[in-house]
This record gives sequence, structure tokens and C-alpha cells, in this order.
Amino acid sequence: MTFTGTNKMDVREVIIIGSGPAGLTAAIYAGRAGLKPLVFTGYMYGGQLMFTTLVENFPGFPDGVDGPRLMENMKTQAAKFGAELKHVDATAVDFKKRPFEVAAGKEKFAAKSVIIATGATARRLGVPGESKLFGRGVSSCATCDGALYKGKTVAVVGGGDSAMEEALFLTRFASRVVIIHRRGELRASKIMRESAAANPKIKFAWFSTVAEVLSDGTRVTGVRLKDVRTSEMRDVPIDGLFLAIGHVPLTKFFKGQVDMDEEGYIIAHDGATRTSVEGVFVCGDVRDTRYRQAITAAANGCQAAIDCEKYLREMS
Ligand code: NAP
Repeated sequence: MTFTGTNKMDVREVIIIGSGPAGLTAAIYAGRAGLKPLVFTGYMYGGQLMFTTLVENFPGFPDGVDGPRLMENMKTQAAKFGAELKHVDATAVDFKKRPFEVAAGKEKFAAKSVIIATGATARRLGVPGESKLFGRGVSSCATCDGALYKGKTVAVVGGGDSAMEEALFLTRFASRVVIIHRRGELRASKIMRESAAANPKIKFAWFSTVAEVLSDGTRVTGVRLKDVRTSEMRDVPIDGLFLAIGHVPLTKFFKGQVDMDEEGYIIAHDGATRTSVEGVFVCGDVRDTRYRQAITAAANGCQAAIDCEKYLREMS
């Protein structure tokens, strides 16, 4: 086992966990502040924008910017200012020790401060057939899998902006897209609702939940829908099912280390970046149940780096 950080020489000023817009913006600011941040990007770096196509609402790009391109640029910018990027997942933390410890598998690292920016991941339905067929007709990423459904019928579950975005994207390939929503009213913003309603390929299954994902043993063949008002069941033939029912925060290994709410989101005690542990900061979707935008995550990453730099300055 390698123990980095047990030697005082190896104690980092700051470790950043996560590499979405929040983590990488924190890395840019911490880098520019001369803190030489160590960033655990995760095996899958870049966060949720890696699963999008054109991002049209990130300021500075009037013609939009490709999500993965934007994240690659942020990564390059962070490295340019001295961030050390480790393309591995952090797997455990110990915030009861000083300096703090962060483990990546068997390797351990120490730091005077930590910025948590692990984000959130797509929520699952938890119905029969879903797990077995995940990657074989069930997906949470239209950008990744949409092209497989040329001329086919697909369904999207959810009534928020993500569901509308996924459905609209899927109309590029599929001949028919059914949006399955558990209520009679969408949560999505007006512009997204209107775009979806105006698209002739999109149909809605209102007041419906997915009771089961149906298959021929190998591939998705349909969904069994339950009408939430009457409990009546009906089978709808589809070739692919896309989940867009929100997200869950990636905070499993912070349990017992920092305060979280009942859903597992980390609580920022000052409303910005301070956690229940002095010297541990949080930013981005892992603490944000309200805005969840790339730009708000980036802004919050900037705040975390500034707060962290101030903490380190006052500590020394
Ligand atoms: P969201 O707004 O939380 O919507 C989740 C949807 O899934 C809701 O309609 C919810 O139904 C439904 N849902 C949740 N759990 C379900 C379950 N178990 N079974 C069936 N349906 C379920 O999540 P989101 O759409 O991912 O959006 C998250 C944030 O990102 C929002 O702030 C959104 O504005 C933003 N966003 C913006 C854009 C954009 O501007 N281009 C794109 C994507 C996301 P209920 O409505 O009944 O609760």
C-alpha cells in the first residue's frame, strides 16, 4: 500500500474531488491562487455535460458549445494553472483527521483542505426489467444512445427540462417519441414545453408511470404503463426507454463525514460553500437542488476556491 501524505512534505494545500464545471472551475481558481490543487477527476471526468450535445446557455458562446468540448477546455485551463489531474475515482475520505485524508483505492493522499464537487447522477425507476435491460434498450443518455434508434419508437420518462431535451434530441433519429409523465402538467420551462408540444414526432402519455420494462429476453420491446388515476395497466410497444427523472447526489463515501440532507445532498452551512467540517468546502450539483446549471455550478466552484484560499491564508 502506498501512503502519500503521511509524510508532512506531501500534504497538499487542497484536494478537489470531482471534475464537472464546479470542480474544474474550483481547480482553475485554486491553481491561479498558487495552491497547486490535486484534482480527482474520476475515471469518467467532466460530469454531466459529457452526456450533452450543444450547450446553448453557457455565456460566451453565442452559437452554443459542445458539452464535452467545454469540459475538455476547462480541464486544459485547470492544468495550465498548475492543477494536477488524477484520472481516478476518490473512494473514501477521513475528515476526522488533520490533515484530511482522501483515498483512491489503496492510495491515500493528505491535504489541509478539501473541495467536494462530485455532482449528481441520473436517477433510476427501480421497476422490474430496468436493471437487466440497462444498456440494452434502457438508457439515461439520449446523446450517447439516440443514434441507435433511427426510424424506431422510443419513450422518455419524466416531465422536466431534461425529459424535454432528451425527447427533442431523440426526434433527430426516432420516428416517434412518447413522453411518459406521472402528472397532467409538465415541470419543464415554458420554452422547452412549447418546443416539445410543437414537435409532431412527440406524443405524451399523461398520468402514467412505468410499472415494468418489457423485453423479448434480450432487447426492450415495450413498457407496461400504469394510469395513476385508475390503476389500469396498458402495454405500449417501444424499442428504447430513456430515463430523465432527475438526479441523485454522489455522496455515498461522505456519509458520516459531513452533514447531508435526507436526500444525501451535502449541506452548505453558509448557503455558499462551507460544510459542517471547517476546511472542507462543497460546490456544484452535489449541494444544489434548485438551480443545477453548468453556469451556477461553475460559479459555485469559483466561490469554493475563494473561500478555501481565504481559509488556508487565515490558517497559516
Ligand atoms: P427535474 O426538474 O427534477 O424533473 C424530474 C422529472 O422527473 C419531474 O417531472 C418528475 O415528476 C419526474 N420524476 C421524478 N421521479 C420520478 C419517478 N420515480 N417516476 C416518474 N417520474 C419521476 O429534473 P431535470 O429535468 O433533470 O432538471 C433538473 C434541473 O436541470 C432543472 O433545474 C432544470 O431546469 C435543469 N435543466 C435545464 C436544461 C436547459 O435549460 N436546457 C436542461 C436540462 C435540465 P414531477 O414533475 O411529478 O415531480
